[in-house]
Amino acid sequence: MCSGRVDLGFVLRAFSNGVDGVFIGGCRLNECNYVTHGNFHALNMVLLARRIMEHIGLNPERLKIEFMSGAEANLFVEAVNGFVKQVKKLGPLGESEGLDQNDVKLKTAEITKLVPYIKMVNQDKLASRLKTPEEYDGLFTHDEIEKLFREVVSYYIDPTKCQACSICLKRCPVEAIAGAKNLIHIIDQEKCIKCGTCFEACPPRFGAVRKISGEPVPPTIPEEARTIARKSKA
Ligand code: SF4
Ligand code: SF4
Repeated sequence: MCSGRVDLGFVLRAFSNGVDGVFIGGCRLNECNYVTHGNFHALNMVLLARRIMEHIGLNPERLKIEFMSGAEANLFVEAVNGFVKQVKKLGPLGESEGLDQNDVKLKTAEITKLVPYIKMVNQDKLASRLKTPEEYDGLFTHDEIEKLFREVVSYYIDPTKCQACSICLKRCPVEAIAGAKNLIHIIDQEKCIKCGTCFEACPPRFGAVRKISGEPVPPTIPEEARTIARKSKA
């Protein structure tokens, strides 16, 4: 599989399942056969994932990416052996970090839910092509990652504005929106992956979807208050 296909969610799932280290091997940078240059994306994803690991208290040395050509089996063996040695030194996941397996599971599960949001917020950086290893450290800073999680957004449908047109409901990729004809729509915050599609999709003349950050999401209105009374045309 192309290294560019290795999603942030795959890496988090591996750690959530208790693996002690993740190694990603990619083709040499600037030697991709395709215009997509997926290995740059893999590199950026790893740099982001390593910062996220620091944020949740995991040692980022447990995640490594190396680039080599298909003809460099010796490099591959060296890189993998070196990584295995390094991970053995770190010990089982969470042990040297003072986290138990449940902590790791909970923390990675929380971040996994936010993967679409994290990718959307960082889409420009994830698509960038770094020229030198010296640039790696600065692509994602500690402060940016702290801010990312501190200011995480939620989406809420304003019941006074929703016209029950169902456009948002049809576009939501995870069926987090409930509603029906003449019924004010609501978002299930547990299911919502914060992709922002409903915010973009709600027609401007209604403007019913609100983006919320730094304050609690208002409670969902009760079922009996969700019916919209339309004026008859007669
Ligand atoms: S932000 Fe909106 S469209 Fe995206 S998952 Fe949440 S409810 Fe669905
Ligand atoms: S698109 Fe806007 S107006 Fe239409 S159902 Fe969704 S929130 Fe309500």
